[in-house]
Amino acid sequence: MGTLKGKNAVVTGSTSGIGLAYARAFARAGANVVINGMGVPADIERERSGIETDFKVRAVHSPADMTKPAEIAEMIALGEKTFGSVDILVNNAGIQFVAPIEEFPIEKWDAIIAINLSSAFHAIRAAVPGMKKRKWGRIINIASAHGLVASQYKAAYVAAKHGVLGLTKVVALETATHGITVNCIPPGRIMSEQIRRNYTPQYRQWQADNEIPVGRYGEPEELADLVVFLASPRAGYINGAVIPVDGGLRRYQF
Ligand code: NAD
Repeated sequence: MGTLKGKNAVVTGSTSGIGLAYARAFARAGANVVINGMGVPADIERERSGIETDFKVRAVHSPADMTKPAEIAEMIALGEKTFGSVDILVNNAGIQFVAPIEEFPIEKWDAIIAINLSSAFHAIRAAVPGMKKRKWGRIINIASAHGLVASQYKAAYVAAKHGVLGLTKVVALETATHGITVNCIPPGRIMSEQIRRNYTPQYRQWQADNEIPVGRYGEPEELADLVVFLASPRAGYINGAVIPVDGGLRRYQF
């Protein structure tokens, strides 16, 4: 509690799903937050104001589209202007599409690479100068078990998530002497809106029984606890790390 008091965080793709759990966990720990993402304006406003009333911090929404580099830079600028700094950046926004390689729509490839990989580059590029100036920063990139292993029909997603691991390692080296850490979490199967939308309860149970060594999906809060720790001053010696949260799933080529 209060470990992040005085810090300001940006979480991409945080108007719903796991990203919202990160934003709320930061607020619970005392940080102000910029939430970002798509959705119905009234729903976004309810989540934003809910963060402020529940945790007595400030929260603003950036509508930045993660396919648009200029809007991503504006999102970081919004955090710096509103709160005075962006100390913590979580690159979480992500989408999925499944098709055999020869039928994979080119626009889907471009969108997945843009949202799942390039948006992290643009956000980091915009946030690092301020972090360097203040000699403190925490960047956490959310990849996937698909950043470690492959599945058929997920060419763009697997390529983008492997790229997120590479980007993490490079920026971790470049910023290491500036009080900035850059780490990557590849989650396994975590319960979220898109999982509820895309997989039936029966299929999720089959996955839990057959694919996930601990026998269940993970909860967003189980990721959020690690994200908050990585963002805390105590985590200053963890840099360039890839820390799976997947119930042992990565041992499988799924
Ligand atoms: P989700 O679909 O529930 O949420 C995705 C978020 O990204 C939403 O807030 C959405 O508004 C936002 N978003 C999508 N396109 C955007 C754009 N163009 N601009 C700005 N925001 C945009 O997904 P989730 O399950 O919460 O996943 C969050 C992250 O975790 C993703 O990067 C995903 O790849 C990763 N992940 C999820 C799982 C899982 O099992 N749920 C597993 C591994 C990795």
